[in-house]
Amino acid sequence: MYDINLKQKLSNFSFLLLFAMLFFVPDAYADKPIKIVATIGQLSDVVANVGGERVKVEGLMGAGVDPHLYKASEGDVRKLREAQIIFYNGLFLEAKMEDIFKKMQRRVKTVPVGESIPRAELLESEVFHGHFDPHIWFDVTLWQKVTIKVKETLCEFDNLYCKDYEKRAVEYLEKLTQLDQFIKTRALEISKDQRILVTAHDAFRYFGRKYDFQVKGLQGISTQSEAGINDVVNLADFIAEHKIKAIFIESSVPERNIQAVREAVKSRGWDVKIGGELFSDAMGHEGSFEGTYIGMVTHNINTIVDSLK
Ligand SMILES: [Zn+2]
Repeated sequence: MYDINLKQKLSNFSFLLLFAMLFFVPDAYADKPIKIVATIGQLSDVVANVGGERVKVEGLMGAGVDPHLYKASEGDVRKLREAQIIFYNGLFLEAKMEDIFKKMQRRVKTVPVGESIPRAELLESEVFHGHFDPHIWFDVTLWQKVTIKVKETLCEFDNLYCKDYEKRAVEYLEKLTQLDQFIKTRALEISKDQRILVTAHDAFRYFGRKYDFQVKGLQGISTQSEAGINDVVNLADFIAEHKIKAIFIESSVPERNIQAVREAVKSRGWDVKIGGELFSDAMGHEGSFEGTYIGMVTHNINTIVDSLK
């Protein structure tokens, strides 16, 4: 008798436990959004779009911040420690944070999204051998692959809500398809020989490859190496020779270098104008249209085409 009662009690207890797990645990979990940290704004934006209310995204780098030179503050390190998932671009974009990410890897899910792009679709760095160009967001179809990587990561981490992530990802991917189409259409307003984009640093090579522009940056693919006098002279010769109408400053790079190029072009008898400011490695201010990925890319193509055509 005694044994049977005990068995009965145990089985009641297991049932209660199962009941609690099924109904109470997920509820408690559902109330708390997943804490996510992302580095560049472009990436925070994708995570927020795919994650919706299930995630709380802290972006480390705001408007005007250069990720090549960015060092983590003490506050950032605290945020990174508390995060449940860390997304970063990788491919050495956040060059001065690589060590921190490597250390964090042991305790937090750490995802360098750029490394999910097939190697064959990446551009190799012309200067740093064995490295790839990290500015993948400028080919919208590559950024769609990043969106899928973010969705997969969230589904894996929080499987119960995978359907929601999938739905949101599909909606965002559709917007990106329209964005890609918009850029292609606008680019065709300029004749092929005028489709030359000169900017402060080499952030636009993926843009050039995808939308058929010749691109020239004064500094290389990282702003860590300063432009020398030879770079200015060569670029000025090129601009004067091709009678390029406009060159562009970037919101995350000091504009003095591009101004120096403009002066040098002038001394060669050609007046090139500053076509405006592009958002290259950082988005615009939070809350503005340019403070979103779609907004910054739209701003860029409109600024480029309106100045060059
Ligand atoms: Zn850059």
